[in-house]
Amino acid sequence: MSATFPPLARRLDGLQSSAIRDLLKLTSRADIIGLAGGLPDAELMPRDRIAAAADAALSDRSRLQYTESPGWGPLREVLAVRESGRLGRAVAVEEIFVTHGSQQALSLLSEVLLDPGALVIVEDPAYVGALQVFRAAGARIVAVPLDSEGMRLDALRTLLEAGERPAVVHTVSNFHNPGGVTLAPQRRRELANLAERYGFWIIEDDPYGELWFERPSPAPVATYSPNVIRLSSASKILAPTLRAGWMIAPAPVCRAVELLKQGADLCGSALTQQITAELLADTDWLAGHVDTVREVYGARAGALVGAMRARFGDRIVSTDPAGGMFVWVDFTDGTDTAALLPRALDAGVAYVPGNAFAVSTDYTRSMRLCFTTSDAATLTEAVDRLAKAHGGV
Ligand code: PMP
Repeated sequence: MSATFPPLARRLDGLQSSAIRDLLKLTSRADIIGLAGGLPDAELMPRDRIAAAADAALSDRSRLQYTESPGWGPLREVLAVRESGRLGRAVAVEEIFVTHGSQQALSLLSEVLLDPGALVIVEDPAYVGALQVFRAAGARIVAVPLDSEGMRLDALRTLLEAGERPAVVHTVSNFHNPGGVTLAPQRRRELANLAERYGFWIIEDDPYGELWFERPSPAPVATYSPNVIRLSSASKILAPTLRAGWMIAPAPVCRAVELLKQGADLCGSALTQQITAELLADTDWLAGHVDTVREVYGARAGALVGAMRARFGDRIVSTDPAGGMFVWVDFTDGTDTAALLPRALDAGVAYVPGNAFAVSTDYTRSMRLCFTTSDAATLTEAVDRLAKAHGGV
């Protein structure tokens, strides 16, 4: 006899599990080269430094205790110094709010900024973790396409001039997930101007900004307007398991988020927040560590894009990543990337079909490839397998 349970809340209607998380379950086979998951390389994570910092933190029993909801004070101070450098102004500790990864900041902000039915403008293709959160909040979602310089502001302006009034515009400003592109400096300024003119919040979602290969990423959108709530994270430069993200936002937004954080989880972990503070405060060590990550990822990105272009020639158009973790590839020969996927898995390579990130544009002929967790030889082998599955090359 199958059990009948009482109903779940109506806000769950239409919510779907992330297609990518579902796909990752299929692609964890050892014989598959995984270009699908958006994971930083665990081999590059500073395990020994984390272990030593954990030991030091645990010598003080108060790290076993609850901590303040906006984050452990000394971590907020380290982050205020760090973000002051990034933003070119003195950032106050009251503007810093530590979250359980930047994903929790997205979740709490959606409750603070969005009434049901509020309009949220996202990029197309979009970061699916943001889409899930905005959908769960009952927002109306409209997408603006990306081009090689990031969010197309002409398309955003058209929507605004047609009378659309977003509560929030969400942008992944650096080394976009999944699109690979970076918002051009002039567009950052223009986007900030539009936010002030039309009275909307910008969520600048920036977990990848430190992972540039040749040239530092441009000044954050947050340097141009107080309407910007900036999100960053230790996940890609230290380790996701720390679950240390942070938000830089005007004090009233931080206070509102605090009310919700109290209900969500009371507070974060004083232990991982102290580890994060210690590693971020050791700026000489950190600079060397992040340089190594940049160098390794830069070489891998070059190897993957080089192999794709050598194998597929003018059948593809690929981004040339200047940082981050992803390459976005469009097939010009009509390849349907969702239809290709089972053959690719048989050949031993996994990727994410473009439509997993689509909001209103058709990305049937696109795919996202992640280059972070395989060395150059493995990436070349992955492209050989992909070419075999594709058959036409
Ligand atoms: N924003 C973007 C654009 C991301 O790609 C990710 C991670 N995939 C996150 C936020 C969340 O990262 P975390 O919660 O680990 O900080």
